[in-house]
Parts: sequence; structure tokens; C-alpha cells
Amino acid sequence: MNIILFGPPAAGKGTQAKILVEKHGFIQLSTGNMLRAARTSGSEFGKKVAGIMDRGGLVSDDIVIALIEEQLDANKGAPGFIFDGFPRTVAQAEALDTSLSKRGQSINIVIRLRVNDNILWNRMSKRFAEEGRKDDNLESFKTRLRNYNEQTASLLPFYVSQGKLNEVDGLADIETVAHFVAAVIDMQSAAARPGQRPLWKRLFGRI
Ligand code: AMP
Repeated sequence: MNIILFGPPAAGKGTQAKILVEKHGFIQLSTGNMLRAARTSGSEFGKKVAGIMDRGGLVSDDIVIALIEEQLDANKGAPGFIFDGFPRTVAQAEALDTSLSKRGQSINIVIRLRVNDNILWNRMSKRFAEEGRKDDNLESFKTRLRNYNEQTASLLPFYVSQGKLNEVDGLADIETVAHFVAAVIDMQSAAARPGQRPLWKRLFGRI
């Protein structure tokens, strides 16, 4: 089961990804986390991407695709992957489809966390206070949101055309969003296995 968590910066993708990892043993593939690890390591590569990240820019498609491929190979046999913050451009989405299909896999579900721009800045300020991420400042935030609206949001029709897009209300509290996400996964898994009774039937079987 391969799932993309989709949404603007600070929509809650990372938080929901962690919940899915704990629940299902999926592997979270966050290109943001990989890039932050590279910069913390002090490597030349890390130094190269640090400036782009701090400004809220997008690191080149080739780099993030290579990072993802490395992880797909390093985690063969995983029960599933949660893609968090990747893909962010149509080129990345196409490359991901190709990489997965070479490995006999595909994206099963795309879950968009629907939020509005006004609350994102509040969430990001809170995260900055808690985690001190350099790119959670107003200037960088504006750039990241612009990149999302100009480049990443155009992935929505891409996944609609593949019949994979699902939406949940990302404004609810963490547990409620997690329930919505679980319901989407359950519904889609049941649809993929016609013999399997959906969650609501298993819970309320006699209705
Ligand atoms: P995130 O933690 O997903 O918000 O990512 C933090 C930063 O890493 C972004 O603002 C970008 O500079 C970079 N980044 C992460 N994922 C990608 C991606 N898929 N494509 C390009 N840049 C990325």
C-alpha cells in the first residue's frame, strides 16, 4: 500500500505520516526530513541544499527523485510507503510512477489534507517556536506557499485523472484527521479487495 499525503506546508502531513507509521508499520519517505538530515551532517550536498531550503525554494527534481529511489531500494519488502512532501512537481510525480512501476508497485491512494492559508501561518509560527526550523519564517513561508500554489497544486488534476485523489478536512484536531485518513485507507483497501467487507459493515454489521 503506497500513499501520498498531499497538502501545503504545515498542513499536518508529517504528523499524520507518523501516525500511519506507528499503526501500519509503513515507511515514511519525507524528502524534507532527508534534506534536513543531509544538512545536519554537514556534507557538501547538505551545504548545497541548505540555502535553497532556508529561502523556501524547491530543490531540483533530480536530487529529490534520487533520494526517493535510494530509499525505495533500501526498504524493499516494506508493507508500504507514505510519501510526505514528495512529489511536489508534475515531473516528480511522473518519475515516482516510473520508479514504482519498475519495482512492480504503484501509488494506491493520494490523500489531500484540505486546509486554508490563514491557519497555516499560525501553525508554522507554533512549529518554529517548538522546533526552530529555519524555514518557518514569514518570508520563506510566503515562498513555500507560492511554490505550492504554482507547482504542487497542479498535481491535483494529475491524481484526479488517475482516480486516486481523496480529500479530508485538515482543519480538525490531529485525532479527528487521523480518523478521516484511516477511513479513506480502509474504504479504498476494501474497494481494491471486493471480498473484504468495508469498515462500517464490520463495525455495524447488522444495520
Ligand atoms: P518540507 O519539510 O517537506 O516542508 O520540506 C522542507 C524544504 O525541503 C522545502 O521547502 C524544500 O526546500 C525542500 N524540499 C522538500 N521536499 C522537496 C521536494 N519534493 N521537491 C523540492 N524541494 C523539496
